[in-house]
Order: sequence, then C-alpha cells, then structure tokens
Amino acid sequence: MSSQPHIVLPWVVRRTGLPLLSSRCTDCPSRSATAGEGRFRVNANGKLLDVWLLARCTACGRTSKLTVHERVPVGSLDPALLDGYHANDPELVARHLLDPLLARRNRVTLDWTGAWRLDTPPVRPGDAWPYRVEVTFADPVPVRPDRLIARGLGLTRSEVPRRIKCDVPLRRTTSSGFAFLVLPGD
Ligand SMILES: [Zn+2]
Repeated sequence: MSSQPHIVLPWVVRRTGLPLLSSRCTDCPSRSATAGEGRFRVNANGKLLDVWLLARCTACGRTSKLTVHERVPVGSLDPALLDGYHANDPELVARHLLDPLLARRNRVTLDWTGAWRLDTPPVRPGDAWPYRVEVTFADPVPVRPDRLIARGLGLTRSEVPRRIKCDVPLRRTTSSGFAFLVLPGD
C-alpha cells in the first residue's frame, strides 16, 4: 500500500433551496419564518430608500421585514441592483439571505434543515486505500465535518474518528472547504 493517496474525490455541499429563518414571531409561539420565493419591499422617502426582504411566520403567516438597506441615498444604489429588488430577482434574494450581515443585523439565524445536499461522485476506492476527499462549498451551508463525513461515507459517527484524518477539527461547524483522508476499515 502506498503512503501517498492517489485518488482524490471531490465532494460538493450546495443548497437546494432557501434556508428557513429562526426568529421569534411576535404574534404566536413559532420560532420559524420563511422568505418563501423571496420578495423585496422598496420604500422611497424623499431621497432616501429602505429595502427589506419580506419573511413570513411558518405557523401564523405574519409578515416581518428584514432590513437590507436602511435610509440609503437613492443615488448610492446601482440602478441595476434597484431593478433587481423591484423584480424580486431570486439571485439577489439568495445573496442577501445568505449574507451573514443580514442575519446579524436582523437578529435571525438560518435554519438549513432540508435545504441543502451533499454531492459525492461514485466511489470505487477498493484498490486505492487510503484515499482523499476534498469538500468544497458551493453555498455557505454550515456543517459539522464529522456528521457530513458520516453521511457521505455511510459510517457511524463513532467510526469517523478512527477512519478519518481530517485537516480541520471534526466537530467544529464550518462552511469553508476542507479535506480528509479515509483509512481502510478493520
Ligand atoms: Zn407566528
């Protein structure tokens, strides 16, 4: 067996939709809201603009507004960007919703449950232990490496530390690319 891994498998984490928002509803006990298909509201007040992304409580449907721009001079926004807000451009919705600044500013967190997937190529590593996997993120989905690896390889979480040499801490949630080596089982 060579000590140099000669197979590198690319894994990709990507979103399949928009994450939900964890935020407290003011009208009901729910703590979950959705941006739905994504809708902006633009409000002009003299020469100042407010732009919000609208969210809806998943239980009672109450609409809330997530601040995107607050009292910015009309001229400071690129006209193409403004058109995008008026057209509810899905790319623009995703860009703002996934921007950590929006979450911080509006005191919400993203709930990615069921809104992402892991793409793995078909594996035939039988004759090539150990092999290396490089994980990249097409979208900033937060994952715990040990859980992602267990899912991708069909291992139990207790097997992961024995079979994996990872270049980042296994239990620290990340959305940055990382790589790991898969060692043969017993
Ligand atoms: Zn509600």
